[in-house]
Formats: sequence, C-alpha cells, structure tokens
Amino acid sequence: MTPEEFRRYGRQVVDWIADYQERIEKYPVLSQARPGEVLASLPVHPPEQGEGYENVLADLERVVMPGITHWQHPSFFAYFPANASGPAILGDLLSAGLGVQGMLWATSPACTELETRMADWMAELLGLPAKFRSDGPGGGVIEDSASSASLVAILAALERASGGRAGRDGLTGRHTLYVSSQTHSSLEKAAKITGIGTARVRTVDVDPRTLAMDPAHLDALIAEDAAAGLVPTLVCATIGTTSTTAVDPVAAVGEVCRRHGVWLHVDAAYAGVAAVCPELRWLNDGLAEYADSYATNPHKWLLTNFDCNLLWVADRAPLTGALSILPEYLRNQATESGAVIDYRDWQIPLGRRFRALKLWSVIRWYGAEGLREHIRTGVALAQRLAGWIRDEPGFVLFDHHPLSLVCFRPAWDGLPEDEADAATLRLMERLNASGDLYLTHTKAGGRVLLRMAIGAPATREEHVRSAWRRIVEETRAIERETAR
Ligand code: PLP
Repeated sequence: MTPEEFRRYGRQVVDWIADYQERIEKYPVLSQARPGEVLASLPVHPPEQGEGYENVLADLERVVMPGITHWQHPSFFAYFPANASGPAILGDLLSAGLGVQGMLWATSPACTELETRMADWMAELLGLPAKFRSDGPGGGVIEDSASSASLVAILAALERASGGRAGRDGLTGRHTLYVSSQTHSSLEKAAKITGIGTARVRTVDVDPRTLAMDPAHLDALIAEDAAAGLVPTLVCATIGTTSTTAVDPVAAVGEVCRRHGVWLHVDAAYAGVAAVCPELRWLNDGLAEYADSYATNPHKWLLTNFDCNLLWVADRAPLTGALSILPEYLRNQATESGAVIDYRDWQIPLGRRFRALKLWSVIRWYGAEGLREHIRTGVALAQRLAGWIRDEPGFVLFDHHPLSLVCFRPAWDGLPEDEADAATLRLMERLNASGDLYLTHTKAGGRVLLRMAIGAPATREEHVRSAWRRIVEETRAIERETAR
C-alpha cells in the first residue's frame, strides 16, 4: 500500500469509525450471532492474490458487524466498561503508524520516556503516594492487563521472599498467596503460571455484608502457614472487586503484611482510576503506608482503549531482578550505562507496543477536569439507578455501591430461592436477547444478582432510565407468567 493509497483508505476508515460512533444506538447491544455464523461467512482459504481495501471494508459490514457486541453502546452495562474515545483511538493509530517496538530504551527512547512520564502523570492525577514515582527506587509501567500486573507482582514478591533463589533454583513448593473469595480469578491463574500452585492459594474470609477481606483471618492464616514452615509471599487486596466493587481494608491488611514481611499487591483494576476525583481519594487509603505494588486499568473506565494497565511498584529492584535477562543480541550502550529504563524487564514478553501515546492523547484532550467529569457522571448515574431500585416494590438492592456498579435482583416473592435465582437468570437472558441493553450477573450471599455497570462514555441518564424501565417491565411479565 503506497502512502497515497494509505491516505485514501485511511480517510475511509476514519470516516467509517466516526459513522459507527454516530449510529451505534441502531445496533442491538449484544451480538445476535449464533456460534459459527461469522466463521461460516469467511472463506476457508486465504486469497492467493491481493485485493482492493474496499473489499475489506465491505466485508467489515457484511461479515464482522453482525458478530460485534457493542461495548461502546450507551446501553452496555455488562462486566465493567472498556472505554474507547476519539483521542485514544487516534493515539493508537499513531502508535500503529509509527510501528515502534519499544522493548528497550534504545529501540525508541520516546516510547520509554513518554511512558515513564505518563506513569508519573497518572500517579499525580490519582493522588498516589510519592514512592510510586519514577524519580525514586519505585516507578510505573504500562502492562497489557491487570492480570499481567498481578502476575509480575507475584514474580517480584517471589524474588524478594526467596532472595533471588526462586528464579534461579525454582520454587520449593513452600510459597503461599492470600486472596479472598472476591479476588479476581487472574490471581489463581497466576498461581498456576508461576508454579506456586492453586493448592498454595489461601482464601481469606470476607465480611458477609460488605464482602471485604477480613484482616484478622488473614493474620491467622499467615501465622499458621509460617508456623508450618511455609513462606507467605504475597497478599492481593482489591479495591473494587469484579463481582460487587467490594473494597478490602488496605490499611488493616497492609499492617498484617508488614508484620509478617509479606508483599502487598493492590488490584484496583476497575475502581482505581476513580481517584482522579478528590472526593473519591478514600480509594487510596493505606497505599502510601503499605502497598508494594498497585495496579489500575485506564482501559476500563478512563476513556483509554484496551489495552492499558498501569502497574506501580514501590521498589523496582525485585521486579527487574525477577524478569531481567540480557542476551548478547540485546546488549547496547544505553542499557549498560544504567542511565535508562528498559521496560522489557518489567513485563513478561520482550516486545512492547507504544501504549503511552494513547494515554498521552487522552490526558491532554480531556485534562484532569474532563477525566473527573467522566467518572462523576458514571457515579452519579449509578447512585440515581440505586435510588430507583430502592423505591421500586419487589426489588432487592445490594447495599454496597460506592462507584458505578449497582447489583440488585427482583425479590420474586413466594418463589423458593433456587427458582427465584433461575427466574433472575431468565430475566437477564431475555433482556440481553432483546438487544436493548446488555447486563451480566454475579452471585453474592448465595443469591444471583444482576450487575449494572455504568461508565460507557456515551451513556446518559435517558439510557439508564430506559434500561431500568425495561428491567421492571420484563420482571413484571415473568411474575405474571409464573403466577399462572
Ligand atoms: N482485577 C479486577 C478487580 C477486575 O475487575 C478485572 C477485570 O474485570 C481484572 C483484574 C482483570 O483485568 P484485565 O482484563 O485487565 O486482566
């Protein structure tokens, strides 16, 4: 493709994306494709001859679009949001246009240094402690995901707990991790990947009302393991759990970690970015005193296209100690001078995308004020929704909803619990199949709850209100059917 052809098709692609943004509400939120349908529309064999790009754009409409679930639709309330925004898309396009692979400082100094500055900017925007800034022993890095952030935090913790032996001699089967029943499943996955083993992952009790980790039980579990000759290695506290946005008491958990010399990783994948608002800075309580590592995802709720996770460490030495390998073919003067950061030593793969460009675009376009406004809109809409649920007869609201996720269920009075849970799932399936909205479920206190996560950039009060109206209507219809 010549630069001239690129210019022509590039304009068409940008126009296509802008049109998509304008007409997104015309699509059903959840793709209505059946399994295998997209596959069946694709040729089995690749083309022998190249073809015009207009053919690709035509097939985008014909083949791909029916199989798209519209995450940017204003009535997308499933999982957590995965925000896209104009400046982030343009930043990603620039990254693709530059085609930089930033494994080493030397392979594009701007890729590394812009990332360092973005990590520091984000630390400042979120009011994070000074120990995470890059001008001291700590610092931040952009990882692909919160799962990767947890994985590398565990590797750093193993490095510290074993005095470097874990990476050299392998694990002894004695390292243990501590999570709660509400911790994201990526921690268990990381236990498999690292070889710690899921049998060495301890599950700390939670407060039955708030679902927050119980520090006294954590203390007892760690003491028991240490007495048995095991090596308590890392505790993962969560700020804003996936299921219900429970907030673990980081300061109390951290105090236990400090006493036992255990690494504290704080996973704030979804909720952490909300600290851009000063009134939500309580989310950071305990980080300054106790957190060894902290991660949050601008790619969820901060207007930055997937993928973009920020991981900060208070001390980068155990992280780079765990992950640094220097083969001859990567040796270069800058690395050897010790004056530069090579982010390949902060992550699992060697190669890395220029992700800082999209974060830079987002922060400069919106400014701190714009970012705060986006978060505040989500929080305010969620609180309004919670009020409507509370006021509607025949619905049960899950009490804890500090941010933009609201969990609830119809009461289904008179139905036994298992039938009521089945009815809640049936309700969700019907709503999602309608294409009008998309929401997901969880289980808390043994009961199925619907989760409505607000935060897509295009979501306004009218979308939340009409989603709530649909939920009530469909609930009443199912109530009538079950009463028959
Ligand atoms: N941690 C928490 C608390 C999450 O809610 C999620 C995803 O929702 C993750 C980790 C995983 O995020 P990622 O897809 O960035 O790995």
